[in-house]
Amino acid sequence: MSQESLSNRITSLPASQTLAMAAKARELKQQGKDIIGLSLGEPDFNTPDFIKEAAIEAINQDYNSYTPVDGYADLKEAICGKFKRDNNITYQPNQIVVSTGAKQSIANVMQVLLNPGDEVLLPCPYWVSYSAIATLCEAKCVEIPSSIDTNFKITAEQLEAAITPKTKLILFNSPNNPSGTMYSEEEYLALAAVLEKYPNIYVMSDEIYEHINYDSKPFSFAAIPSMYDRTITVNGLAKAFAMTGWRIGFIGAPQWIAKACTKMQGQITSGTNCIAQRAAITAVSASPVKVQYMVDEFKNRRDIVIGLLSEIEGFKLNVPEGAFYVFPDISAFFGKTIKGKEIKTASDFSMLLLEEGNVATVTGDAFGAPNCIRISYAASELQLREAVKRIKEVLV
Ligand code: GLU
Repeated sequence: MSQESLSNRITSLPASQTLAMAAKARELKQQGKDIIGLSLGEPDFNTPDFIKEAAIEAINQDYNSYTPVDGYADLKEAICGKFKRDNNITYQPNQIVVSTGAKQSIANVMQVLLNPGDEVLLPCPYWVSYSAIATLCEAKCVEIPSSIDTNFKITAEQLEAAITPKTKLILFNSPNNPSGTMYSEEEYLALAAVLEKYPNIYVMSDEIYEHINYDSKPFSFAAIPSMYDRTITVNGLAKAFAMTGWRIGFIGAPQWIAKACTKMQGQITSGTNCIAQRAAITAVSASPVKVQYMVDEFKNRRDIVIGLLSEIEGFKLNVPEGAFYVFPDISAFFGKTIKGKEIKTASDFSMLLLEEGNVATVTGDAFGAPNCIRISYAASELQLREAVKRIKEVLV
């Protein structure tokens, strides 16, 4: 009896590098090390009181039973209202599925759409779990490269060149984790014009960071009429409402896809936590203005971090328009030996910052961008200033 008995499925699955780095930072902290954790994409704010009160009320009202697998009817109504208000998309409640976090929503979608050998397009950089989940579904990941020189965006020409008869799904994410890049409406339309020629390709549009934007308003794939019937819009409460641990994600999708996701979820987890769902009604019904104070603070931190990091020679930066990450290209350090450690990859660089500077970041390898590292600025200004000071000290 040993771990050789584990399935091929799990042994070939890479661990989530965002979560692995966060766990490592936590472990080092427990050992007494003064680690600044900038690896996890998790707001450092508390969940707003008006949402907490809704959850307390739900407990007192004895919400304790199983819920419908796809979510409470009034929550699905409220989510339809949110999609109309924020995204100009009309969904009916039978097109909504509420899940245990956007991650489960994404896993549901891939499991119900992908067959072995199907190709999944991943515009780089992409969130770590996209490729892992697609691989679990035995699909083939096809990366569409980008770099800091194009502000981490792909073009319509690149998209078209990546399409083959086996292409089934494109995973799209704007504002983007890890780069913070946001595609403009024009850029969406250019990508959609390509997809219109290939009616068998579906779009999963992950919009979890939509409210965390600084310089321009986000746009939604499903708001493009020709894309509506083939787009699955993914969203959730974790980021904008500081509710990472509450685990509420949802999709709006063509009804047949929503139905399939409900069937999948019905065999795996059932309806998500009833108290979190009741609180979610309050969160999605509230005007996004109620959480603007967090966005304003993230913007302030973005500007501070970009300003400080740009003073470090070798850090090449873009200015992220949304989310709460900076994604510097640090390839200028490759081939150098720093503090006795040879830096060959972004992983080496990220480990150097952890071991010599006590600052936790995530390697860009995890996101299909091997020249970069991800730094989350969802931390206090004090911690951010101290972190950059330490990074400087390691590198000079
Ligand atoms: N989405 C967040 C991140 O990228 C949370 C961790 C995770 O699930 O990957 O850091």
